[in-house]
Amino acid sequence: MEVHVLASGSSGNATYLQLGQARILVDAGISTRRIQQSLIKLGTSIAELDGILITHEHRDHIYGLETLMKKFHVPVYATAKTWDAMYLKARLPDNYCVELKPSFTVQDVCIEPFRISHDAADPVGYSIYGENMKCSMATDLGFVTEGVKQALALSDVLVLESNHDVKMLENGSYPWYLKKRILSNRGHLSNLDAGWLLTRLERKNHTHVFLAHMSKENNTPEVAKSTVCEVLQSQKLTDEFSIHLTYPDCISSLSAG
Ligand SMILES: [Zn+2]
Ligand SMILES: [Zn+2]
Repeated sequence: MEVHVLASGSSGNATYLQLGQARILVDAGISTRRIQQSLIKLGTSIAELDGILITHEHRDHIYGLETLMKKFHVPVYATAKTWDAMYLKARLPDNYCVELKPSFTVQDVCIEPFRISHDAADPVGYSIYGENMKCSMATDLGFVTEGVKQALALSDVLVLESNHDVKMLENGSYPWYLKKRILSNRGHLSNLDAGWLLTRLERKNHTHVFLAHMSKENNTPEVAKSTVCEVLQSQKLTDEFSIHLTYPDCISSLSAG
């Protein structure tokens, strides 16, 4: 299995996965041109994608979708409510807009969406199964429900939100309403919450974790990593995880299995 986080953060999100026979993109929150350039660097292209999974309708997850769908014929999956909430839906080719089912396959890969708590119409994360492995993605969530914990259990690879350092956010320059939104149950997950979540998950021998959707203002990759690692260390779990960082402007890659 290959996982490549092409871009991550509030300026745009897109992750490319290759497992089994399937080539899948999760979210298209950067320009079609950038997605194409990134995929070409990885030896593939948009035309070779088997499907695109959308987590929710916020701009940082669908920014490139309109151009992409007009130029390329790739099925795009989202929940009915997410499609309804998309401002650009009317301009998209209808026959490639697919409504998400609770469980479905793309090539030989099984995909299970799960609900997350975020201020969008019907936001989801995804668990993707192939090659006897499991990759789960949960990148915009205010807090972790029991359902999310179950969905993330026993993953080989996790792409997990580690959005902010709570102190940096509280002391930072964001207006109060925005701080309140981010810290709310339907906002974004802090570094500390991400770390504690990892310690409480049912897990395999080893888990690769991409820390994702990091805030530019209220976090740094170093702060996120050190906070998560301190929590893991406090529970003597350091050796059970490999922590990978993600960036708004460069690709983070992992080849597992
Ligand atoms: Zn987002
Ligand atoms: Zn969002």
